[in-house]
Amino acid sequence: MTNDTEFKAWRVQEQDGEYTGSEQTLHVSDLPENDVLIRVSHSSLNYKDALSASGNKGVTRKFPHTPGIDAAGEVVEASAGPFSAGDKVLVTGYDLGMNTDGGFGEYIRVPADWCVAMPRGWDARTAMIYGTAGLTAGLCVKKLLTMGAEPEQGKVAVSGASGAVGSVAVELLANLGFEVVAISGKQDQADALRNLGAAEILGRDALAAEKKPMLKPAFANAVDTVGGGPLAELLKQIHPGGSVSCCGLVAGSQLETTVLPFILRGNNLLGVDSVEIPLAEKQAVWDKFAGEWACKKTEASARDIGRGELDDALNAFLKGESSGKIVLDHS
Ligand code: NDP
Repeated sequence: MTNDTEFKAWRVQEQDGEYTGSEQTLHVSDLPENDVLIRVSHSSLNYKDALSASGNKGVTRKFPHTPGIDAAGEVVEASAGPFSAGDKVLVTGYDLGMNTDGGFGEYIRVPADWCVAMPRGWDARTAMIYGTAGLTAGLCVKKLLTMGAEPEQGKVAVSGASGAVGSVAVELLANLGFEVVAISGKQDQADALRNLGAAEILGRDALAAEKKPMLKPAFANAVDTVGGGPLAELLKQIHPGGSVSCCGLVAGSQLETTVLPFILRGNNLLGVDSVEIPLAEKQAVWDKFAGEWACKKTEASARDIGRGELDDALNAFLKGESSGKIVLDHS
């Protein structure tokens, strides 16, 4: 391995305010100076990658840029940290794919403290089926459990249920014995959601704007992946003492609510960040997914794509039309 070693990356260029992604040949010397050089075999697709690839400056400030907030593969060289050549690792979040070239390239070079040892029994593809979206779903569920959520309390709603985060949340909650209500705008995903374990499917109109400040409680707890107006409506419908894990903003980052769910029903709004949390918290969730939290149906239904299909797949995220888990295979 030398600095002249060539590799392929799906790189986004900016020209006159337009952002275009295409396969480019780079050199290892083009990567930022960091501790660990990793040969990436797989990445995972996330909404944030679509934001980066479409020029969202809140995600990526400078172009050309290689998106990909997730990466899994093998360490080639390490100048610091616990890893050495040949170790299998995965990297999610921190600055990967935002302003540090990410997993849509065949190599990344990152700080040692962004790298997690591959959980026992997993290969890179399996890790990337879960990816940041799976990690986030796991963190959302973990927060609900920490607040005392139990299946006996009643139904758990998942919004954006067919999406990358939502679909893993549906399966994980169902596996844990919860009665899951999947809220989804995609009628054609109803069978897939039932297959993941959803007991009931509701359309997005279940969270349509209502004038009333509070509604009849319908759900004991919830995982919200969409934010905005639907989250405000969800908060009106939670049983006394129930909680909502909140991680996303596809329906908007503005949250217009009242204090009523909090002071009349003692509800909890639980924020979930999967990006900047300590590595040990990420590792704990990965180990759960590699063991008792395994989502075998998600693993079986994941779709693999090559770099040439990234454009279409990322556009589908921006249109809210993506569903399930998509893995980028560099081979
Ligand atoms: P996806 O696009 O895969 O899933 C989002 C789903 O939300 C869609 O599939 C769709 O599901 C639904 N949806 C889309 N647009 C709208 C809309 N306008 N109104 C209501 N529902 C809509 O994205 P991800 O699952 O990758 O990410 C979901 C969110 O979570 C994103 O905002 C992302 O940025 C955030 N996120 C946050 C993380 C964190 O650390 N906090 C980490 C990972 C993701 P359906 O058709 O079934 O309704």
